Amino acid sequence: KGNDGKYTVTLIEGDGIGPEISQSVKDIYTAAGVPIKWESVDVTPRLKDGKTVIPDEAIDSVTRNFVALKGPLATPVGKGHVSLNLTLRRTFNLFANVRPCKSIAGYKTPYDNVDTVLIRENTEGEYSGIEHVVVDGVVQSIKLITREASERVLRFAFQHAQEIGRNKVRAVHKATIMKMSDGLFLNIAREIAKDFPNVEFDAELLDNTCLKMVTDPVPYNDKVLVMPNLYGDILSDMCAGLIGGLGLTPSGNIGSECSIFEAVHGSAPDIAGKGLANPTALLLSSIMMLQHMGLTDYADKIQNAIFKVLAEGKTITGDLGGKASTSQYAEAVMKAL
Ligand code: NAD
Repeated sequence: KGNDGKYTVTLIEGDGIGPEISQSVKDIYTAAGVPIKWESVDVTPRLKDGKTVIPDEAIDSVTRNFVALKGPLATPVGKGHVSLNLTLRRTFNLFANVRPCKSIAGYKTPYDNVDTVLIRENTEGEYSGIEHVVVDGVVQSIKLITREASERVLRFAFQHAQEIGRNKVRAVHKATIMKMSDGLFLNIAREIAKDFPNVEFDAELLDNTCLKMVTDPVPYNDKVLVMPNLYGDILSDMCAGLIGGLGLTPSGNIGSECSIFEAVHGSAPDIAGKGLANPTALLLSSIMMLQHMGLTDYADKIQNAIFKVLAEGKTITGDLGGKASTSQYAEAVMKAL
């Protein structure tokens, strides 16, 4: 927080539709009088010592400000390109990915009362990247589960549950099959649960969770679900599907020092530069960011305005079946403020 009472936040506008949806966030924040100054940084990879890396200025900015809002980054297809998203996650050790999915009034889906909160371990598990060929035609891929990373994400899940007023945490696992790896995760979950006597703890098998959630999501509305990396990746997209898709789902990548909030969707190259993009997911990610920063009044105010415009359904973007441009939608939100 600076002398002017404003918080500086790093803004990574991103590729494709990134700059357009970032503009909507900036305009709406100005209209709402949010005490935030944006520090825009470019994360286009540069060549350093023969490796492609994120520019130091971008890393310094996030390190200095602790909080960043990020638009989508396009990962070039082909050999030798590391995913920038993965690089950011590793650079800042963003160990937990938080994905809330709440039904949006006005946007009809099979269920209108979904309100799930899922926390995914973000650094290891099936995505540890350790793979090798044993002999021709036989490959091994290592699922890495460590006490350290499991403890960190599980403790965070219990703390987050308390912060958002839920008193149930459920670990999702396959310890029946992955006896050692998921078994360790589950045992640590049981240990950590003892430190949170006010939070109920239970566990559920992943396949059972999937089946039950798509049959009736309501029993999940009072819980925080926490799980290893791959399960979280898949289950969080399933939850997104329950509320109408990736265009509406926010996320937060939480680290011990810094946190980066981002929309779940990609850079949408097919509609980039045409003023057609829906900025809602990035806006809702920024709301998570405001809540994380303790600026809850501003978060509520902007969120209510967004939900009002979506519920009215008059000024919505093409992906939701409307005709409004990105900026027309943003203007409607500003009016609703
Ligand atoms: P995508 O999410 O960019 O697009 C999928 C479809 O959804 C497209 O038809 C697109 O027009 C639509 N869409 C996405 N966001 C929208 C929005 N806000 N408003 C309206 N429509 C929207 O997925 P993709 O095409 O598989 O990926 C494109 C690029 O994005 C790739 O380079 C990929 O690596 C990258 N990507 C980045 C992230 C990230 O930065 N977190 C996530 C996923 C994909």
